Amino acid sequence: MSLIVQKFGGTSVGSAERIVNVAKKVGEFRNQGHDVIVVVSAMSGETNRLTELAREISPQPKPREIDVLLSTGEQVTIALLAMALESEGYEAVSFTGGQIKILTDDFHTKARIKEIETTSIRNEISSGKVVIVAGFQGVDSKGNITTLGRGGSDTTAVALAAALDSDECQIYTDVKGVYTTDPRVVEDAKLLSNITFEEMLELSSLGAKVLQIRAVEFAGKYKVPLRVLSSFEAGPGTLINVEGGSSMEEPAIAGIAFERDEAKLNISGVPDIPGIAYKVIGPVSEAGIEVDVIVQSAAADGSNDISFTVKRADCDSAKSILDSLASDLKAKKVALDKKVCKVSLVGVGMRSHAGIASEMFKTLAKEGINIQLITTSEIKISVVIEEKYLELAVRSLHSTFDLGDPNFNGEGK
Ligand code: ADP
Ligand code: ASP
Ligand code: MG
Repeated sequence: MSLIVQKFGGTSVGSAERIVNVAKKVGEFRNQGHDVIVVVSAMSGETNRLTELAREISPQPKPREIDVLLSTGEQVTIALLAMALESEGYEAVSFTGGQIKILTDDFHTKARIKEIETTSIRNEISSGKVVIVAGFQGVDSKGNITTLGRGGSDTTAVALAAALDSDECQIYTDVKGVYTTDPRVVEDAKLLSNITFEEMLELSSLGAKVLQIRAVEFAGKYKVPLRVLSSFEAGPGTLINVEGGSSMEEPAIAGIAFERDEAKLNISGVPDIPGIAYKVIGPVSEAGIEVDVIVQSAAADGSNDISFTVKRADCDSAKSILDSLASDLKAKKVALDKKVCKVSLVGVGMRSHAGIASEMFKTLAKEGINIQLITTSEIKISVVIEEKYLELAVRSLHSTFDLGDPNFNGEGK
């Protein structure tokens, strides 16, 4: 008998019928004698609907109120799942993040979990109940409701698994596991039976939303055995190998990730002097805007060009900051391109395989795709390109690096 944390995402609880199916699945584990803690997301589309509703009321609602609003999505599904489990004959009890006490910092809309109070969960579990916890939410030290950022229910699940020292954390979603790339973009993407923790961390941070990055970080830090599997089809899914260890023949590339909603800013003709990058990037970061790829290039005439990317939602604010700096820095021009995306190759095998970058650039060149920015690390190469080429780039790279499923029979996922 073991203690399992199971998380069901938005599509998995997207209708009353699906919630009943989740209850049946959880019931099967109870029948096998396991103790189960279930974390659920809001019904699919609900968090977007609430966000949209807020925007109709106010262009910039207070983050505290956004959290009060968004947390309601998960409160609906915990209650419905508890009812469904009871109807199936299993004892169950639901808790919001605040009731459990999932204590977070006070960075509304992107809070981080600091501590989880496990007493009430343990008591309910030992009295034979299935404990259902609302994903994506917590409370700060003053009792304000906080949320953990989009996709945050994954993190709730892994953090609970860590706090309870659970035997496995299972993330049930709408695909069979982690693939070589998003199976909705590349039909013959291959399901990976396992993936190293490092690779999963990169894929998540570079846009593969199948696991929230904070969840992967938690799994690595607390060595939580983490598995991604389908809510709808039986199968072993993908194990995130948190213990390290790799096979002798590591393939060069584990997967391809991409980020659609990027924007590129460029400030040109600024003087090439010490401190210039700080003068440009500093004010943008101080405004709470996350800066991603940064490229600086000095010209022979002593001037300097700085380009960087931000999330598209932040690009207008970043542009006005650059506009306000332009005359002070004697910049020639400030430009914004809202139509870019980022495509990344990820693989620990890159460490020992030379020539991956040139193969990547050759593939993109063959397709006539212009690379605007490049950034690399030991186990990843990212390029910023025009957004309209995203699918083409991902598909052609997937085929160049032979990542497709040899058993693909054309039926999709
Ligand atoms: P949930 O609502 O269950 O949390 P998400 O939509 O957050 O589900 O994450 C699952 C989605 O992640 C899949 O439907 C798929 O489109 C996308 N995805 C992106 N990259 C990958 C990948 N490498 N492997 C699997 N799924 C991926
Ligand atoms: N409901 C939240 C979202 O849509 C959290 C989650 O699903 O993980 O982002
Ligand atoms: Mg998700």
